[in-house]
Amino acid sequence: MSLEVTEVEPGVARLRLRSWQGRLAGYEVSAYLLHGVLVDTGFPHAEAALAAALDTLRPRGAVVTHWHEDHAGNAPMLAARGLPLCMRPECEATLRTRPVVKLYRRIVWGWTPRLGAARRDFDPAPLEILPLPGHTPDHVVVWDADRRILVSGDLFLGVKVRVAHRHEAPRRLLQSLRRAAALEPRLLLDAHRGPVRDATAALRAKIAWMEETIGAIEARRASGEAPRAIARVVLGREGLVGYASGGEYSKLAFVDAVLSGT
Ligand SMILES: [Zn+2]
Repeated sequence: MSLEVTEVEPGVARLRLRSWQGRLAGYEVSAYLLHGVLVDTGFPHAEAALAAALDTLRPRGAVVTHWHEDHAGNAPMLAARGLPLCMRPECEATLRTRPVVKLYRRIVWGWTPRLGAARRDFDPAPLEILPLPGHTPDHVVVWDADRRILVSGDLFLGVKVRVAHRHEAPRRLLQSLRRAAALEPRLLLDAHRGPVRDATAALRAKIAWMEETIGAIEARRASGEAPRAIARVVLGREGLVGYASGGEYSKLAFVDAVLSGT
């Protein structure tokens, strides 16, 4: 487990969290700190390293972009330490029920403990919190209007993301991406890709790719092709994560999500 704090630009810190399990799977995650606000809390395996870093960084509060364990994984620990937390009510409700997550996610990230402590709210101004669902229903981003920085959680992830979680809503994500692009951000702080400098162009490229991909999936379904065949042709062969996740995070799940109309 390693935690590295780097400066993205003056006043913006990146907390880069990596575990050996994640490294094997090709995953790492970053939290960010700006205006004294921590955006996302990393994964449960990173608890001790994050706690030590926060003793030095001393944020005034944290925003949780969504309930997934690589973002909300240490929210219960932060709440127990008395740190104020902002999150959507759906996110808080999920963290208080502690849904079971599949084994591959528990190996890579750990399993978020139940949120038991009372949550103290805070005002993140001058930062704004914007609900931009799709990746999950509870997903928010953090917008720094003065500097045109969008801390985007899992909104972006890359231009051509050919896998999705079963519960993702690709059309809602597309709407959210359009709203994000309309802000014309200069810098995107992506939880997995790191800083994306040409932010508006990157968002527009993703919007174009998703429109085209959703269109191709719909057209093939209309001509009677089966979802598995559509996934193969439009998105390519299933990768390791598709198998390791038992199909939960896969190309077929992307196609199924599109065909479910969400
Ligand atoms: Zn996520």
